[in-house]
Amino acid sequence: VARGPKVEWNGVGKLADGHRVKVLANVGSAEDAKAAVATGAEGVGLFRTEFCFLSATEEPTVAAQREAYAAVLAPFQGKPVIVRTLDAGADKPLPFLNTVEEPNPALGVRGLRIARESAGVLDRQLEAIVAAAADTGAEVSVMAPMVATAEEAAWFAERARAAGVTRAGVMIEIPAAALAAREVLDAVDFVSLGTNDLAQYVFAADRMLGALATLNDPWQPALLRLIALVGEAATATGKPAGVCGEAAADPDLACVLTGLGLTSLSMNNAALTQVGARLAGVRLDACQLAARAALAAKDPAHARTAAHAALH
Ligand code: PEP
Ligand code: MG
Repeated sequence: VARGPKVEWNGVGKLADGHRVKVLANVGSAEDAKAAVATGAEGVGLFRTEFCFLSATEEPTVAAQREAYAAVLAPFQGKPVIVRTLDAGADKPLPFLNTVEEPNPALGVRGLRIARESAGVLDRQLEAIVAAAADTGAEVSVMAPMVATAEEAAWFAERARAAGVTRAGVMIEIPAAALAAREVLDAVDFVSLGTNDLAQYVFAADRMLGALATLNDPWQPALLRLIALVGEAATATGKPAGVCGEAAADPDLACVLTGLGLTSLSMNNAALTQVGARLAGVRLDACQLAARAALAAKDPAHARTAAHAALH
């Protein structure tokens, strides 16, 4: 099995003082899953199921979904995998779900909002996920994208549990959900921060526009302050809160996120070894110091510099 470059990461996410932070992979295909296992990912923090059906013009049958999900889950037998239900819309339209033209797709009926309009689509997907989990022996949790309120989180969790899912969570990628993190966490077993969309919505800056990239910078102190609310709620409730947006792939920012109280970091395969190695070299108190420095910074450049100084 090909492994990443030999650095001081043994495949278990742990700080120098023993504090645990799971280092997980973002995947969208069986190839991604195999590569992540080869690199040493402890599991999957985000399986983007919509990537399996980007060109489907009709809803895939339960059998077809079961097969597609099982191919991604198989390399993770006995390991945790968070499967995200279809996040259709905006940057990832699915021809069989996004049938109505909208003036503002990023603010439209997307993600869980589609499931609430057509619950049968969600129920059939949950049935396929539960079957694929049994087929492969992966320890599957399920989470919903684009959740705005605790009521939506509770609706999803109830539906997921009714389908036989043992651990149900939601993404926090809409500012309202971050502001209500405590109530959202009370309704589910875990949450995962989607920093790509959270930045887009908190700065009202389209994530697809390169011209707005400085607003969508994950080191923006205003974004970090919103993330801090979620870390505090996770610590208060004792429930896990991860990050699965691109922010987790930046080694210094991964330390800051850990200092903010987040318990797992999920990233693209290319980032796993570097982030795992960086975490292994720092203590929790240094991460907390870096987090405080970044939160107090006046802009992203100062947040980066201050966090880096606190960590080195
Ligand atoms: C996010 O929004 O940060 C996220 C992880 O989901 P996606 O990039 O698929 O929208
Ligand atoms: Mg998202």
